[in-house]
Amino acid sequence: MNLNVEIDTQSGFCNGVIRAINTAEKNLGDNGLYSLGAIVHNSEELGRLNSIGLKVIDIEQMKGMRDTTVLIRAHGEPPQTYEIAWQNNIKLIDCTCPVVLKLQEKIRDTYSEIRQNHNGPCGQIVIFGKEGHAEVNGLVGQVNGDAVIVDVIHTENGVSFKGIEKIDCLRPVYIFSQTTKDPKEYVTICGKIRSNISQAHNCTLEEADRYIKIHNTICRQVAQRHENLVEFARKHSVIIFVSGKESSNGKVLYDLCKSVNKNSYHIQNTGQIELWWLKENDSVGICGATSTPKWQLENVAEYLKNL
Ligand code: SF4
Repeated sequence: MNLNVEIDTQSGFCNGVIRAINTAEKNLGDNGLYSLGAIVHNSEELGRLNSIGLKVIDIEQMKGMRDTTVLIRAHGEPPQTYEIAWQNNIKLIDCTCPVVLKLQEKIRDTYSEIRQNHNGPCGQIVIFGKEGHAEVNGLVGQVNGDAVIVDVIHTENGVSFKGIEKIDCLRPVYIFSQTTKDPKEYVTICGKIRSNISQAHNCTLEEADRYIKIHNTICRQVAQRHENLVEFARKHSVIIFVSGKESSNGKVLYDLCKSVNKNSYHIQNTGQIELWWLKENDSVGICGATSTPKWQLENVAEYLKNL
């Protein structure tokens, strides 16, 4: 089959993931290395790293360990993890992405400010993110869990807003986003919260702005990819999107491709490619998430060229 295949040059690991993987590889040593949680949400890359000695553990396993070394991935961790490490004499190789570290610090600072200086009702921290996601757990941990997590959920009838009812609209809202969320969804959910605040205060939307502070904390690399990917998905007849099914960023970027090109397909490996997706002389764009290695995109391109 003759296909014109192009790999999106902007796809592949983000800087945070590259840094964490390079650091892991440098520190593997003869006995391997423990990683707290999957260093990347991609089973193919995890398999490669596992074969050279990177062992994934969870927090319960870490609690039972002593006198060893554990790597913290780019997503970051809540303060409790650092305490466990200290108590168990565990050396940490901290690969928290600098962008995530900055966000954690911003949330901590805002929380301490709103608790110290307020005239009237105390403000609340709201995090737009996927509940249970490692980065979100790390963010919520900065304020001892005293935060409301909200998310946009896609349903058959459109979108719904998860967790938004837990926000007390009569108290000021300080909202932050998980770094890998969709910028457009962030705008949508902030608009909804702003409208709820205006109703609760019986004021105009402009007046409601006094009660909401929106922090633009989506990673710039991610935001940039959204813009580029729309263009890339539009110019090809078929899109093969490669990422782990557990990748939060993968889901967001795949949905974006699908929204502009209905012939978009999500795969984890070449074994999932179906021939009926393709026809002679198709132009096929291959792209992926911030957790998709370049080598995997190249494998897919090679596979298609050999069909
Ligand atoms: S997406 Fe951005 S913030 Fe998140 S790990 Fe990658 S570089 Fe860091």
